[in-house]
Amino acid sequence: MSTALITGASEGIGATYARRFAARGHDLVLVARNTDKLEGLAAELRAAHAVSVEVITADLTDATHLGLVEKRLRVGGPVDILVNNAGAALMGPFHGNDPNKMEALIRLNITAPTLLASAAVDGMAARGNGAIINIGSVVSLMPAYFPGIYAATKAYILTLSQGLAAEMGPKGVYVQAVLPAATRTAIWAKAGVDVEQIPNVMSVDDLVDAALVGFDRRESVTIPPLADASLWETFEGARAALPSGLGGTPADRYRTPVTT
Ligand code: NAP
Repeated sequence: MSTALITGASEGIGATYARRFAARGHDLVLVARNTDKLEGLAAELRAAHAVSVEVITADLTDATHLGLVEKRLRVGGPVDILVNNAGAALMGPFHGNDPNKMEALIRLNITAPTLLASAAVDGMAARGNGAIINIGSVVSLMPAYFPGIYAATKAYILTLSQGLAAEMGPKGVYVQAVLPAATRTAIWAKAGVDVEQIPNVMSVDDLVDAALVGFDRRESVTIPPLADASLWETFEGARAALPSGLGGTPADRYRTPVTT
């Protein structure tokens, strides 16, 4: 029996992952701030699937709370799958946005998944086995359409995932970045957006089921709504075509000073 630790498991995408992994027979560690919702889901899943479910109440923007989850990953029973899902959106442009809100978003969307992955990989590498699912967003690929720092936080998640996959794959750790597009969860209302005004919203069940097909195929990047996989392959191929040994001397095209 393996164990999955899921952040942001009290509702939305994280709660759906919890239901799917419980149905697959995984024991669970559920993390979020809302203890009542976590305990309710834990009771449901214990009864339905006879799995063991731990609950950790933690505000992942709080370093002390985050430390408790890191400790669970480092010294508790083995965690075989980490789902870095907890996250929030911050609407509005960069210019004029509240720096305190931006800093809190960075703690939730960047610092927490980074430190949790760091805590998880020790045991996974030692066992030569494990998986990390990082929930990014398609907006990381189209930042001009989503002003403010949310897209940038998700670009970090994509790059972190790809770097981790390259480093940890040979050690038996599978890393998947999942890039949802608009998905029908409470994240929109919390950010002050009426989800009914957004076209082409995916149901959370469809999103997680598709993401799990990508997981089972061991894809490194899964974009559930993208019908034509060759578009992503072309995008990645363009990046891979950049010379790998960049450095040394400035390119000739930067040797001519701009004259005013
Ligand atoms: P959601 O329904 O609002 O769920 C967010 C989850 O994160 C909740 O369980 C929430 O639980 C938890 N959370 C929020 N702040 C937290 C904090 N400070 N500490 C600990 N847990 C916290 O949103 P969702 O749509 O499922 O989002 C899940 C992930 O998908 C996020 O990373 C989001 O950026 C990404 N995503 C969503 C969409 C979309 O359209 N829905 C699209 C692309 C990417 P508590 O409130 O109980 O703490």
